[in-house]
Amino acid sequence: MLPVVALVGRPNVGKSTLFNRLTRTRDALVADYPGLTRDRQYGQANVEGLPFIVIDTGGIEGNEQGIDAKMAEQSLLAIEEADAVLFMVDARTGSTSADIAISEHLRKQSKKVFLVANKIDGVDADSAVAEFYDIGLGEVHPIAAAHNRGVTQLINLALAPHIEELSAQVEETEIIDLAEGEEYDDSAETQQDDKIKLAIIGKPNVGKSTLTNRILGEERVVVYDMPGTTRDSVYIPMERGDREYTLIDTAGVRRRKNMTDAVEKFSVIKTLQAIQDSNVVMLLIDARDGITDQDLSLLGFVLESGRSLVLVINKWDGLDTDIKDRVKSELDRRLGFIDFARIHFISALHGTGVGNLFESVEEAFDSATKRTSTAMLTKILEMAAFDHQPPLVRGNRIKLKYAHAGGYNPPLIVIHGNLVDSLPLSYKRYLINYFRKSLKIMGTPIKVEFRGTA
Ligand code: GDP
Ligand code: GDP
Repeated sequence: MLPVVALVGRPNVGKSTLFNRLTRTRDALVADYPGLTRDRQYGQANVEGLPFIVIDTGGIEGNEQGIDAKMAEQSLLAIEEADAVLFMVDARTGSTSADIAISEHLRKQSKKVFLVANKIDGVDADSAVAEFYDIGLGEVHPIAAAHNRGVTQLINLALAPHIEELSAQVEETEIIDLAEGEEYDDSAETQQDDKIKLAIIGKPNVGKSTLTNRILGEERVVVYDMPGTTRDSVYIPMERGDREYTLIDTAGVRRRKNMTDAVEKFSVIKTLQAIQDSNVVMLLIDARDGITDQDLSLLGFVLESGRSLVLVINKWDGLDTDIKDRVKSELDRRLGFIDFARIHFISALHGTGVGNLFESVEEAFDSATKRTSTAMLTKILEMAAFDHQPPLVRGNRIKLKYAHAGGYNPPLIVIHGNLVDSLPLSYKRYLINYFRKSLKIMGTPIKVEFRGTA
């Protein structure tokens, strides 16, 4: 489970500036996929190799009424779901009555709260900080989010209780240099069991529980109860054919049965955790709503995580042909950029198409974990370069020499050559597609890294 850090504070103290800084990698991702919208509220963050989830709660003043009260309620819910709260104040304006009001709220929560004085650049930090001790939330942590001052220290402090656990689960991201002909040592990874962890995600009312029940109704299922908070999904072991699965049920079907209010609260954090914990994600989209911003933002989380993906357009029953055509053309137009995921059109309610989903899930899992030798990858690289030569850089031809595996799930291909820093993005895309077609990899993104050789 990734820890969750919530940013709280009145408007203009610098929450979104800090949010952007913490989730910076996501900007690179958004540039890679022009069809993606950025979620301004929830982000996957990474500071010095420590992954966590960050929530920008938006502004709360502490005295909201009417519709603002509703929004403040959302912020308070986010605070409930968080492991640590960063309560931000503005060192330039000094403490305000709104700050005091928010601090009253926070004091009532049993959360670890860090009082953060932002914008300490260009002010006398000591006296600015001193003023906020009156708020009575203990130590004041000075930062300048816009200039990345004090941010790493702050995060290390906020995540301190989780650091040991996190370092244990941090993935090996270091790119390994191998000489030509050498094989990537994946002994650590092959020890992983081949149980497929499948997360079923989607916005509220898209049909997650209906689909989960449908799947469970058809398969041999061993169900066990797991106590949990709103943040937790239900994990359901299941067998299908000769394969073992764990369904990660974000809709909480099992618990819902016993719940007095039938509606499980939709939680983005729960969804993020489920993605993180899965090998393959089924993202459900409601055919009747078309592709919404919420769908795109969930899709962004999946793409960023590198997990395998099957896209499921649900509620395909009883639709007129012109509506079906419209949905399909919208898919082409808005989701054409994800060319690796299979798309299924199903009716969870009637069961139509549900059985076929598993072919794509297994294909995606197998693609993501498939082993390919250095010799094979190098051969494919040579063919790709032969079919379409890398471009000239200031009169010199970029040379691609050899390729080897650098990791799996998602597959990482490390390519060695010279002048590779100058390789245009379009050629990089061409190579990824070439590898995808040659290796018949479907359902998972492929990552490519370049290594310069003299
Ligand atoms: P939010 O409403 O809390 O999300 O605040 P924003 O992140 O939108 O920031 C409000 C204003 O403060 C913007 O003009 C930012 O550029 C500015 N700001 C944020 N962080 C800093 C900082 O560290 N130093 C200075 N000088 N300005 C900052
Ligand atoms: P969840 O919030 O994502 O778990 O969504 P539910 O499974 O609770 O479904 C929300 C509503 O959509 C319910 O009224 C379902 O009966 C309905 N629904 C789910 N799947 C389908 C489907 O394939 N076709 C139609 N027509 N309705 C569906």
